[in-house]
Amino acid sequence: MHYISTRGDSTPKSFTDVMLAGMAPDGGLYVPTVWPKLDFKEFKGLSYAEAAYAVIHPFIGGEIPDEDLKSILNETYKDFTHPAVAPLVELGPSLYVMELFHGPTLAFKDYALQLLGRLFGYVLEKRGEHVTIVGATSGDTGSAAIESCRRCRHIDIFILHPKDRTSEVQRRQMTTVVSPNVHNIALEGNFDDCQSAVKVMFADEKFRKEMNLSAVNSINWARIMAQIVYYVTAAVALGAPDRRVCFAVPTGNFGNVYAAYCALKMGLPINKLIIGSNRNDILTRFFETGKMTTAKVEPSLSPSMDIQVSSNFERFLFDLLARNAVDLRAKMDSFKKSGEFEVSEDQINRAREIFTARRCDDEQTSKTIAACYKTYNYLIDPHTAVGLSAALEAAQDPVMPTISLACAHPAKFPAAVEKATGIYPALPTHLADLYERKEIFSVLPNDLGKIQSFIRKSTGS
Ligand SMILES: *Cc1c(COP(=O)(O)O)cnc(C)c1O
Repeated sequence: MHYISTRGDSTPKSFTDVMLAGMAPDGGLYVPTVWPKLDFKEFKGLSYAEAAYAVIHPFIGGEIPDEDLKSILNETYKDFTHPAVAPLVELGPSLYVMELFHGPTLAFKDYALQLLGRLFGYVLEKRGEHVTIVGATSGDTGSAAIESCRRCRHIDIFILHPKDRTSEVQRRQMTTVVSPNVHNIALEGNFDDCQSAVKVMFADEKFRKEMNLSAVNSINWARIMAQIVYYVTAAVALGAPDRRVCFAVPTGNFGNVYAAYCALKMGLPINKLIIGSNRNDILTRFFETGKMTTAKVEPSLSPSMDIQVSSNFERFLFDLLARNAVDLRAKMDSFKKSGEFEVSEDQINRAREIFTARRCDDEQTSKTIAACYKTYNYLIDPHTAVGLSAALEAAQDPVMPTISLACAHPAKFPAAVEKATGIYPALPTHLADLYERKEIFSVLPNDLGKIQSFIRKSTGS
């Protein structure tokens, strides 16, 4: 199995190179050259880790011996707090929720990042290398990335968060991790300042090489790959390959729903992928009009989807343009210059055969949380509500199951849940003492020189 860049660099790369690099040097994203086809009949009765092995091993291209890969996968998912790892809950006739919050930081990002941290550790140990991971977070990604790297002595991880601007649960999930290789930076600035500091550090070639910088953000192919697994386990549990299913996915960066598209390309019988956007509805507008037009980011009740550039969409667009990198580059250049691009009538129609998209403002989000509690006696977080609202609006054939993704535990966003239902959701036992734990973080000014010298000093280089 090899990988190429969406922007035209077609020198085939191996899985481990693609994983360590994150983004392609030409600015594109890596995609596999072919989609492996799976026989879903063979998935019946497998544990989550066994299913993960069956989905993932074709993508590794033999770079990690099978027995090692199996044991990494067992390790990765053994500490998830539900035996099924990604259990389905039946809400009503043909309506299911897939709970993706049984990892250490209570959001779906754990399902991929827990694996990515271990794969990094394994590959770096073999190569005798050390990397410095630098990332910016507005909330969920930072804690999931820190949890995934905390035990790896070949990684130092630096996460920048905007000082006093994340929720307390989100901040504490990052700053209470005590490990010599974990470095939390509270930047005196906003999320954009954090992100732009990270971008400038990656563009600084001298610093990048000196520190061996690496990223685990959502454009890393290995994260997408790990997310394909739960689409497969859910569909198989409900009768695939003999029965078709729909998925409803709350989306920001198009990462999670792109993994569902990959599952479809691998042969999973998916009838429709239903996208849920919050008020930042760039994707929904695209599926309505065929035009991708960026707008100002507005804060919402589902902050992890407050995005107006869906990075992973480039991977789907590449396929929609018949993998023509010249056409793709022209569209992305136009988007960068003028904040928009357009696809043809034929292309948008083909995209609509796979995807349908809805939007959900804050009021509708609260109503959905309240209605879900009242009707099904089931608490959901605001991101999950955006997906469920789309699922209910886009209801397909009444006998075809729709699986709506629960992307975060309600206790991660307690204020919104309490306001809608009157119930304050409790943290699961492994995090019950989160508010008593000691926090460690460094406050830095929004000054690149100071950030870089802090990173140099903290890694002892
Ligand atoms: C990251 C995140 C999302 C958005 O996922 P994408 O892959 O960017 O579409 C949705 N919900 C929660 C809870 C998240 O943490």
